[in-house]
Amino acid sequence: AKEMDQCRYAFFEDQMLDINRRRLKLETALRRDISNNALRIAYQPLIDFTSSSIIGVEALCRWECSEFGIISPEEFIPIAEDMGMIDELGSWVMNQAMKDFADWSALLKSPAYLSINASPQQFRADSFSDYLNHARLQFNVSPEHIQIEITESVLLDHAPATTRQIRELRQAGIRIAIDDFGTGYSSLSYLKRFPISALKIDKSFVQHAANDPTDLAIIRAIMAIAIQMDVSVIAEGVETQAELDLLIREAVHCGQGFFYSEPLYKEELVEFIRGFEQH
Ligand code: C2E
Ligand code: CA
Ligand code: CA
Ligand code: CA
Repeated sequence: AKEMDQCRYAFFEDQMLDINRRRLKLETALRRDISNNALRIAYQPLIDFTSSSIIGVEALCRWECSEFGIISPEEFIPIAEDMGMIDELGSWVMNQAMKDFADWSALLKSPAYLSINASPQQFRADSFSDYLNHARLQFNVSPEHIQIEITESVLLDHAPATTRQIRELRQAGIRIAIDDFGTGYSSLSYLKRFPISALKIDKSFVQHAANDPTDLAIIRAIMAIAIQMDVSVIAEGVETQAELDLLIREAVHCGQGFFYSEPLYKEELVEFIRGFEQH
């Protein structure tokens, strides 16, 4: 039995070594590809359910690594954060997305906004709002056409730089959306302290609401807060007609999901808008 244990232990050790090796290789490749601007952005349309119009798009970072293939942002964003490279990655996304803005937004009948994800660490650096304004001016994107998506952890950070920058962005007319709302710390007091424009309902709630009364209750609670505070709501992960119907029943009017469109590269987004604006 002891030999078996040793054998199992050696196996486990091998696996750990493999995991560490993969991680190290990913770090090196990510560092290289960020510097070489080899990442891409996919844009997912945000839809107003009632008017069937595009109200915005969310920029989602994509990485195809030459060694390991397509790596999910769920994996590489935390790596970039750990390596202290999220500022560089985030700045690249911001710049590229603003550069792309005119190419798709000009095709829309009514103005839409560009929604960009930001990590907590980007706010700790004092220069986030300066950088954003710089990119905005360079590519001539007005503030009301920008939304920044932050998670609850940003608002619970209590860093003076964070508070100041969020206020600055709002004063400039930029929207602030809380991403993954309800999945985090559920301390609602920050909603009083920060001028929030929108709450995003995480896809986990949308996908389980039909079968799980708790998830439905959470969606209803989010709607109650949103109505009281006069902020808009965007649902994530709308995949089916049934989910769409449920959301509309719960007075959720906007959302994104595979039911309408997957995240699309710019050329595909342009095609999607052309088709969508036809009917
Ligand atoms: P998120 O901000 O919550 O983004 C929504 C995720 O849901 C995206 O995953 C999107 O592709 C996916 N999604 C959209 N519609 C559906 C649907 O109908 N069904 C399902 N199953 N999924 C759907 P993605 O692109 O893999 O991104 C994962 C996370 O990575 C994002 O979650 C965000 O937290 C982070 N991320 C992505 N790009 C960036 C970025 O540029 N900067 C930062 N800081 N984070 C990013
Ligand atoms: Ca998001
Ligand atoms: Ca997220
Ligand atoms: Ca989410």
